[in-house]
Order: sequence, then C-alpha cells, then structure tokens
Amino acid sequence: MSQTLLPCPVYIGGEWRTLKDGATTPVYNPSTGDVIAECPIGTAADVDQAVQAAAAAFPAWRETPPVERARVFFRYRQLIEQNFDKLCATVSREHGKTLAEARGSIYRGLENVEYACGIPTLLFGDTLENLARGVDCETLLQPLGVCVGITPFNFPAMVPLWMYPLAIACGNTFVLKPSEKVPLSAILLGELLEQAGCPKGVFNIVHGGRVCVDALLTHPKVRAVSFVGSTPIAKYIYETGTKNGKRVQANGGAKNYIVIMPDADVGKTVEALSTAAFGCAGERCMAGSTALTVGKAAERLLPSLIEAARAIKVGRTDQPGAQPDMGPVITSQHRDRVMSLLATGEKEGAKVIADGRGVKVTDAPRGFYLGATVVDGVEANMTLAREEVFGPVLNVMRMDDLDAAIAQANASSFGNGAAIFTNSGSAAREFKHRVKAGMVGINVGVPATMAMFPFTGWDDSFYGDLHIQGKEAVQFYTQQKVITARWFGGEVGDVWKK
Ligand code: NAD
Repeated sequence: MSQTLLPCPVYIGGEWRTLKDGATTPVYNPSTGDVIAECPIGTAADVDQAVQAAAAAFPAWRETPPVERARVFFRYRQLIEQNFDKLCATVSREHGKTLAEARGSIYRGLENVEYACGIPTLLFGDTLENLARGVDCETLLQPLGVCVGITPFNFPAMVPLWMYPLAIACGNTFVLKPSEKVPLSAILLGELLEQAGCPKGVFNIVHGGRVCVDALLTHPKVRAVSFVGSTPIAKYIYETGTKNGKRVQANGGAKNYIVIMPDADVGKTVEALSTAAFGCAGERCMAGSTALTVGKAAERLLPSLIEAARAIKVGRTDQPGAQPDMGPVITSQHRDRVMSLLATGEKEGAKVIADGRGVKVTDAPRGFYLGATVVDGVEANMTLAREEVFGPVLNVMRMDDLDAAIAQANASSFGNGAAIFTNSGSAAREFKHRVKAGMVGINVGVPATMAMFPFTGWDDSFYGDLHIQGKEAVQFYTQQKVITARWFGGEVGDVWKK
C-alpha cells in the first residue's frame, strides 16, 4: 500500500517539501475506503516558516502593479481550464463527489479567479476635488500583508478558490491550510499557481489540524483570517483570531429550509428538492436539508419525491466512464454519525419513508456509502430539526400555512440559505422579506451566490463583518487610506501665474 500513496508536500517560500518524521493523518478515497495519502500534521514551527516566507514576499508583491498581478490570474485561469479533468478527478478521488459535481464546483471556484482578474478596476478608490478651497481628497485601497485561509473538507478546490485568488490579487500574500481530509486538490491548485508565475512566497500551503490553526491565529505577522467550516470551529476561529488582533471572516454550518407551497409545480420542485438535498451527498453548507411543506403540498409532492430518492444510483465516483448519481460521504465515522442521527430521529417519532441506510455498492464494499433518505413527520423539537446532518437526508416538516413555515425557518440558530417553491408572487415576496437567512432562493433550491456577490451567511452561519466573495471580500482584504492634500506654491509662487 505504501508505494501507492500520493505525495502530500507543504509549499513554503516557493519550495515543495515533504515533512518527515512528524505525525500524519490518512487521506481516504471514500469510494473504496482505501488510504491514498498521509497528510502531515504540521507544527507551529512549520507554520512560522510559511508565515515568515509570506511576510518576506509581501513588500515586493505589494509594489507589483495591479495589472501585473491580474496577469498572473489570467494565466492561472487558463491553466485551471487546461488541467480541468485532472482537478475534477482529484476532487472526486479524495472527496467522493461525482465528476459532474466536481466539475460544477470547480467552475464556481474558477469564477473567483475570473473575478480576481478584474482587480485593477476593483481597487479603484474615490476622489473629491475641492473638499475645501484648494484641498483634494482621495481614498486608496492597500493590501494588509499576510492573509490566511483555513478550509473544510466538502469543497476541496472551490472553497480555497473563494479566498486566495482575490486576497493575492489585492496585493497580499497568503498561507492556505486546507482540510487534512482533502489536501490533494489544494496541492494541485498550488502547482498551477506556481506555473502561472506567482512569485515565491506569495502563496504557501501548510497542512495540519488544531496546532497548525492555533499557530496561524496567534502569529504576530498574520493580518487576516478567512475560515470556512463547522459552526463551533468558526466561532472559535473568530474569537481567537480577533482576540489576537486579526481581521476574521468565519463561515459556519447551516440548516437550510425549503418551503413548498401547495401551488408549487410538482415535477420541477421534486427535481430541485432532490438536487438540493442529495447533491454532493448532502455535504454542502447550502444543502436544502428540510422541506417545509405547506397545507396540501406534502400529499402532492411526497409520492414523486420518494420515487426520486429511491431512483438515485449510489456508487463509486473515482473511475472515468459511467458515473453514479451520488457518491459516498467523506469517512466511515461521518457515515456512522448520520446513521446515528437517523436512529435518534426514529426514536423521537419521525418516520423514514425512503431509506438509504442499506445501500450496497458491490464493486466497492468498503466505500463510505449511504443512499438518499427521506424522513417524514419531523417536528420542531426533534434533533433532526435542529442539527446540521451533512448527509443525504431530507427531513419533511408539515406546516399549516406560510406564516408557520417562516416561523419554523426563523427559529433556526443558523441563517445561511432558505428557499421557497411557489407560483405566487405575493407568497414569494412575503417569504423573501421576512425569512431570516442571508441567501434566499425563489424556485431555486441552492441559492449559493456566484463570485461577484458576497456569500452572505447570517447568525451562526457566519461570524465577522465582511463576507467572502464580491466587493465585501475586496474590502476585507484591503485597508483604506484617505489622503487629504493641498499644495503651496512655495518659493516659486503660483506657477500658473506670470
Ligand atoms: P471543520 O470545522 O471540522 O473543519 C474546518 C477546518 O477547521 C479544517 O481545516 C480543520 O482542520 C480545522 N479544524 C477542525 N477542528 C479544529 C479545531 N478544533 N481547532 C482548530 N481548527 C480546527 O469542518 P468540516 O467538517 O471540514 O466541514 C464541514 C462543515 O463546514 C459543515 O458544518 C459545513 O456546513 C461547513 N461549511 C460551511 C460553508 C459556508 O460557507 N458557510 C461552506 C462549506 C462548508
């Protein structure tokens, strides 16, 4: 087995290095259950080297004109396209997404590179001539210094791409700590950025867990931290980072409600709902994990929904050619957690009406599989209604009217996404106005935002002030300087007069 392990180097100061002798953690191919790499667990000393390299590269990179910085990302864009299939295969192999899902996620990531290519205009400041007589005022957006990204397992390429392209294009240098469960996609992205001509030390990768994260959060040369992951860790990152004087944006977990009104189009709603709930095996922060059916909507919808869930083919995603509809979840422990939440749900009185727990994948019996599962009769006080499941499970909660559905959605401690399916403009308008969530879909099941818009989680889905993506992220990765200027003629007097 050891000959087949894939390399998992760190990237520090433009050098790819294998950390020897330290602790490691296995990286799995979730489709087969095989270990495919050993991810090193970096120490505070490894982190210090990466931050020092980033700090050393900052002065020259800060002086590099924005148009030249943009050119790195134009080349990077092209390289990502040229290596698209390899990237998709890497994401699928270490995460378990289908190739189609990997492709979709990398396109969403690529949009962030394209956005970063516009950096010369994104960094425009404001000016006001004659603020007072003979006094002019202008604003400059200047980079911060060393920025950090700490990312989750569920989007091994897309979430890192949410962060470093824009941070670096703004003139910062960067240290990425990808999830230790999926470090390989980040390594490939780093190799391509190096090929695009990103200077040594501008982008760095370290690997590890809590020790590494703590070293990043407390390092005096780190200025800003972008985090995406679960809510308890997001809160910890925000509290520790800000206590140590860093800017922090920390995206957490979610519980996203989808309201289905009695007038919703059954075919289109079932299709959207099953993509929202079961896409990426439910492992996404924008998963539509709970359907709030209003009035007769449940009777109209459930027969087709159950049929759709049962028709979802589960299988290995690590081979080219025929792909299943859904791949495995990330680890066997994660599958056990989802199973245990389902068992709790049943104990608390909910009813599993499409059961994916017995799914068998005969050509990969050790893979971490779970089939699409629908649970009916979920009530507000049940564990399934409160906790993020992060697996291919759709809860159904029956509501008397739209008011009750909005109240249920708004009772959640999270506030990432919410959606409504209806043909009524007034119901949709009421919902978008009142629902407590940062991203809202109207007949759109996964209203995840594109690169030019901020990824606007609220409440326990986000800690910070400025979100990831879009203009808010440009503000996050820069500091404003306001220049107030007047000029005296000095000895020569007013030069425009004779
Ligand atoms: P996680 O919180 O376990 O890990 C995220 C990162 O934090 C990893 O890099 C990990 O190494 C690090 N980490 C883990 N434990 C830590 C600790 N005790 N101290 C310091 N660092 C620690 O999350 P995950 O399981 O990798 O990802 C799934 C979660 O991410 C879900 O809750 C999902 O909703 C969330 N997520 C949110 C968004 C969003 O934009 N809101 C997007 C994707 C995923």
